[in-house]
Formats: sequence, C-alpha cells, structure tokens
Amino acid sequence: MIILPTTDQLRERAGAALARCGAEPVDDASGLPGRTPLTGGVLFGVPATDPEGVGAAVGAAHAAFRDSWRGTPAPQRGELVRRLGELLREHKSDLADLVTIEAGKIRSEALGEVQEMIDVCDFAVGLSRQLYGRTMPSERPGHRLMETWHPLGVVGVVTAFNFPVAVWAWNTAVALVCGDTVVWKPSEATPMTALACHALLARAAADTGAPADVHRLVPGGRETGGALVDDPRVALVSATGSVRMGREVAPRVAARFGKCLLELGGNNAAVVAPSADLDLATRGVVFGAAGTAGQRCTTQRRLIVHEDVAEAFLGRVVDAYGRLAERIGDPFDDATLVGPLIGAGAHEAMRAALDQATADGGTVLTGGARCLEKDAPDAYYVEPAVVRMPAQTEIVRTETFAPILYVLTYRDFEEAVALHNAVPQGLSGSVFTQDQREAERFLAAEGADCGIVNVNIGTSGAEIGGAFGGEKETGGGRESGSDAWRAYMRRATNTVNHSGELPLAQGVNFL
Ligand code: NAD
Repeated sequence: MIILPTTDQLRERAGAALARCGAEPVDDASGLPGRTPLTGGVLFGVPATDPEGVGAAVGAAHAAFRDSWRGTPAPQRGELVRRLGELLREHKSDLADLVTIEAGKIRSEALGEVQEMIDVCDFAVGLSRQLYGRTMPSERPGHRLMETWHPLGVVGVVTAFNFPVAVWAWNTAVALVCGDTVVWKPSEATPMTALACHALLARAAADTGAPADVHRLVPGGRETGGALVDDPRVALVSATGSVRMGREVAPRVAARFGKCLLELGGNNAAVVAPSADLDLATRGVVFGAAGTAGQRCTTQRRLIVHEDVAEAFLGRVVDAYGRLAERIGDPFDDATLVGPLIGAGAHEAMRAALDQATADGGTVLTGGARCLEKDAPDAYYVEPAVVRMPAQTEIVRTETFAPILYVLTYRDFEEAVALHNAVPQGLSGSVFTQDQREAERFLAAEGADCGIVNVNIGTSGAEIGGAFGGEKETGGGRESGSDAWRAYMRRATNTVNHSGELPLAQGVNFL
C-alpha cells in the first residue's frame, strides 16, 4: 500500500530545508503559491516581484557589474563559485528535498540534479583560469592580431520548473566566472528552490567578499519574466522553457538588439536497429521515456524500431513498464521510480494527446491511467504510456510534457533517420546498434540533426562537460560545458602595430 506524505509534513520538511540553507520562507498568501505536486497542496506563498522590482534588481546587478565585478580578476571570481560549490555539497540533501517537494523528482534524480550543480561549479572554477583568446598571424609586418574575451554585463536567467536548480547553476556558475552578474527569474512553479539557491549564493558572496548584487532573484510569473526580457540593461537573456515561451521572448530581445540563449522544447527519438543489444536498449529507452515522469526536455518521446525486432523489443519495453506501474508514488520512497506530474494542466495535456493519438489510429500498448486519485485528489500521478502509431502524425511531432512514448517502425536505416529528423524540434537523439557503419551514419552530417546525438545510450541524462542544447525549434543555444562560456562574454579583436609604419590591410593605399 502506498502512503503519501501529507501537505503539512511536506511544509515542515520544506521549511526546515529552507531554514538550513539560510532562507526564511516569507509566507505571503497573496504571493506565488509554492505548491507541491506530491499532494497538490500549497506550502508557502512566495512574494512575486512586480516590473518596478525587476527594474530595481537589474539596476543593482548592473551597478555591481560596472563598478566591481567586471574588473575583478577571473580567478578571483572563481573563488566565489568555488565557495558556492562547497555550500552546495554541504546542503545537497536540503536542496534535493526541495527539488522533490517542488518538482516531484524521485530522490535519486533530485540528488543527481544537485550533483549537476556541484559539477558545473567545479567546471567553472577551472574555467576561471582558462578564458582563452587566440592570436592569429597578421598579414602586416610588425603587427599582432589577437582576440580578448571580456565580461558581457547582466545576464537574465529564466528557468523552467523541471530542472529548477541545475539550469540556474549551469548559467550562473559560468556567467559569474565570466564576469557577468545575474538576475534570476525562476519558474513560478518552483520558487522555494530558488530562495534556497539565492541564499546559498548570497552566503558565498559574503564569505568571499564579492558584491551582494552579483546575484538578484526576482520570483514571479510571465509578467516578471517579461520585464526582465525587455530591460535594455540585460545584455544576455538565457531562457529555458517551452517553444511557446521562446517565440514570445526571442523577438522582444531581438527588437532591442540584445543577445538571447534559448533552451526550448525537445521531441527526442531513439532508433533501435536489428543488431542492437536489446537488454541495454530496453534500459536506455525506459529511463529515457519514463524517467522524471516524462518531464525532461531530453525525455525520449519517440521510438523508431526496426520491423524485424519490433515485436521482441516492444515485449521487453511493455514488461518493463508493467514493473514501473508498481513503483509509482511518493518520490521520497527509495522504491519509487515514477513521481507525480507537475499539475492538472500536464495531466490534461497527456489525456488529450492520448485521445488524439488514438483518433489518429494509434494503439495504447500499456499505461496512460491516472493513479492514487483517491489518496491525493489534487495530485496527478500517471502510468507512463506506450502508444504504437501507424505514422508520425501531428501529435507525434508535438512535445507533450508527460510520459508518452510513441512507437514507429522502419525498414531501411535511411527511413529511420528521415523519421528521426522529421519533427520541428532538434534537442537529442540516439541510436542503439552494434553496426559501426550505422552508428557513424547517425553521427554524420547527413545523420541526426540534433544538438545532442548518442550511440548505445538514451536521449536523456547529459553530463555537464559537453555543451548542452539543440537545433531548430529547440532554439540553438548551448549551455554548460565545452566552450559554451563564450556566449556569456564579449569578444574584442585587437590589432597592435609596433612597426612604425602604417600599412593598410588588403594592400589598400591611402595618403
Ligand atoms: P514554460 O515555457 O511554461 O516556462 C518557462 C519559464 O519561462 C518560466 O519561468 C516562465 O515564467 C517563463 N515565461 C513564460 N512565458 C514567458 C514570457 N512571455 N516572457 C518571459 N518569461 C516567460 O515552461 P515549463 O512548463 O516551466 O517547462 C517545460 C518546458 O521547458 C518544456 O517545453 C521543456 O522541454 C522545456 N525545457 C527545455 C530545456 C532545454 O534545456 N532545452 C530544459 C528544461 C526544460
């Protein structure tokens, strides 16, 4: 029998975790309802920032950038992030509690999300001594040609509910060592995790002598986000969320010639070829499709399986989903593998998508039902669903942020790649194969058209060392590792003449 925690128990647990992180929840009944998807109950009201408040926060972050932070040596800026990483290690369990309470993640995924913050802090500390520019051979004698990377300004970070802390850390750790200051507008669904992160960063700033205004928090909804997006003092808007949000935000930032880094929706597929190791592929597909209750941008939403192995493979997947169905419930319970959806809207979208898929000729092979409705009438626990489709119809081409896996079959590998790419989104894709030529074709220029392309591993669960992001409607941004830091800096190309002559480039003569 499944016993869910009560809203009162969760309020107490969240309050204790917040207090340990140094953030007192200001309980403002008229503010944003800090809701838990575990029960659907409201824990605390968090005051929302109005547009004037956003302007004041941007002004303070801008002054800290201009007067202090941009001139602080990068390795010294790294000290702030090193201290933040230490505090995150110390409060890993507290933050994971808040992630579970607010976003509904199972314990190991919540701890994993906090680990991702720690990892990116470590990465950023190293980066603080590696913000390299290049020197290039000049075509003119006695000249030096080089590039220098400078801090950009205020970075406005807008985040989604499903990675309430990791995405903030990807942006903030890197932006801070790059010499930028940050104003964060977290998802309206996850204000408490944001309060905790802000308090820890404020403590790190105090401990290392960094200005308090290197980071400002502006909780709120779309109006608050809009004020941040429109402020001309925000040099870079890094926005994570739906394609709908990106469509609204990108033209507004472009209209004022600001910079945008967009991390939007995905519609990720795995191809399972006849040579695939089916045990490994089953585990990769089931975690990719049903992990985080289907609420990752990299969640696998489509399975493209070769006709010859379709029956055998689907048998394994359906069996595994049957076992998952027994492990849906309290995400704090170590036995649970599937926690709740974020709310009623997500459940409604899942129902509507399943109805549409069936109307398009699809067959539900397993799952789709709501669970624990009697125990928690305001919470939305669902059985992850697998739906066999006759074709890649419009609903399959749409990201529904819930655990639905659409299955398509193929005969030729070219057909599989074409199906894989025939969606508007381009975040991540995988192939399960032991045929090296197929693997290479999938990775080649004519292969998968995504920002993240994997072989014999699922679509989700990226490491911080690589650049993260996707193409097409996913928005084109790259965050986290590799050279993603460049988006947070301004490049200056410098030519220095020590020749005593003034030869012009391209052999131009003048005076
Ligand atoms: P959402 O688009 O509803 O909201 C995301 C954030 O944008 C929130 O903070 C919201 O307040 C803000 N926002 C929305 N409209 C805005 C506007 N007009 N102006 C300014 N701010 C605005 O997304 P969500 O439901 O929180 O998250 C799920 C979505 O996020 C999915 O589509 C998922 O794929 C995507 N996502 C993408 C990535 C990625 O890295 N590509 C990562 C996580 C989530």
